[in-house]
Amino acid sequence: MSLKTITIPCLSDNYAFISHETTSGQTALIDIPEASPILKKLDELNWKIDYVLITHHHDDHISGLREILAAYPNAQVIGAKADVSRLPPLNIAVSEGDTITIGNEQGTIIDVSGHTIGHIAYYFEKSGIAFTADSLMALGCGRVFEGTMPQMWNSLQKLAQLPPKTILYSGHEYTQSNGEFALTIDPNNILLKERIADIKQLRQNGTPTIPSTLSTELETNPFLRAKKPEIMERLGMPNAQPAEIFAEIRKRKDTF
Ligand code: ZN
Ligand code: FE
Repeated sequence: MSLKTITIPCLSDNYAFISHETTSGQTALIDIPEASPILKKLDELNWKIDYVLITHHHDDHISGLREILAAYPNAQVIGAKADVSRLPPLNIAVSEGDTITIGNEQGTIIDVSGHTIGHIAYYFEKSGIAFTADSLMALGCGRVFEGTMPQMWNSLQKLAQLPPKTILYSGHEYTQSNGEFALTIDPNNILLKERIADIKQLRQNGTPTIPSTLSTELETNPFLRAKKPEIMERLGMPNAQPAEIFAEIRKRKDTF
């Protein structure tokens, strides 16, 4: 693995990530909830920002950008072409299937619209990592603010097709409350119960539950499990389409 990635807690429950390509020394920052914890970590590691990767336009993912660019004026800002009107000025505007280069690593853009239109994820195949922000999250997914339920389901399915060992870096520390909700949908899932116990331990020690792996999400995240017979039955929707079941789960979560 040549991308070394550090998780940085920001604001009350956000995460930024810095990802360092060890052979070239190039570094990418993924999302900028606030600048100060990021600048501090960069100082400690003696890394410099070459690229800033924006996942979506929400304030809690871009607020620190101005301050980061003041410190690293040559950093190239990358974000979704579909959302240029709402994003800060971009040096590189990308769409689904485009690739970006961080030193010797290539990242592929995946359109994961639903939470917002123009939300993108960044997938680095060689290192086996993906930055998913508020699309697929640990034990959850982002609230569907702008897109449609079928669109969000489709976005999650794209991520679900990645290799199961893919390491997922999502944008918030919501995992514990996501777990409480997940139990209401999938109460007999032993792996989910074990995961919730692990999460409790991590949070008691103040340790982030991010990243997780896709294989763990496939086994425990109710939003990826809409096709499972036990969940269809539990929801009383034995003949529904997966996107409809997903929509029902998302609706329940919104009022949980
Ligand atoms: Zn958001
Ligand atoms: Fe967010």
